[in-house]
Amino acid sequence: MKREEALAIVRTQLKEQRYIHTLGVMETAIELAKLYGADVQKAELAAIFHDYAKFRTKEEMKRIIIEQHMPQDLLAYSPELWHAPVGAYLVQTEVGIQDEDILQAIRYHTSGRPNMTLLEKIVYIADYIEPNRSFPGVDEVRVLAREHLDRALFRALQNTIQFLMDKREPIYPDTFHTYNDIAKKLK
Ligand code: GDP
Ligand code: FE
Ligand code: FE
Ligand code: FE
Repeated sequence: MKREEALAIVRTQLKEQRYIHTLGVMETAIELAKLYGADVQKAELAAIFHDYAKFRTKEEMKRIIIEQHMPQDLLAYSPELWHAPVGAYLVQTEVGIQDEDILQAIRYHTSGRPNMTLLEKIVYIADYIEPNRSFPGVDEVRVLAREHLDRALFRALQNTIQFLMDKREPIYPDTFHTYNDIAKKLK
């Protein structure tokens, strides 16, 4: 699928600000894919569709998580986590993208997972550092992302877990599993 077609599809699903965020993720994912030797076209499509399900209702996302036998522990954690696996499902069934590498990058863009692929890491980091993002610590991850992808990933996870803990939010186990996996690999 070509960029213009993909963008036209995703645009119907998103509000203006979220579409602008998506364009930032796309540009950043392409840059990182070139830098680290990933498949640039897959990075582009995964980035374009990563937040496809962002504005579906909680009811619809919950129904899909149950009916499609996704990890049921998702339902015990923040609905913010749901649009990633539900997005992968809808991008496959509604848009017709069948490439598992792309679908996995969408599926794991919020929590991460142990043993992430290069493409998954690129979409996760691009989502975190795209130019429209501004929050404490983002500039440090922007620099790291161009030097050492795993160190950038580690810092992003560290920041996310710290941010959630400061808000007394529950932390999804896969978020911790991803953090632990990278922590061990960086030792
Ligand atoms: P976005 O969709 O572009 O806004 O970004 P993400 O998909 O990466 O994240 C969506 C939201 O999920 C963010 O507000 C994160 O803080 C939140 N989030 C990520 N991991 C966890 C987690 O383990 N637990 C909870 N409660 N929220 C999380
Ligand atoms: Fe997201
Ligand atoms: Fe993210
Ligand atoms: Fe996003």
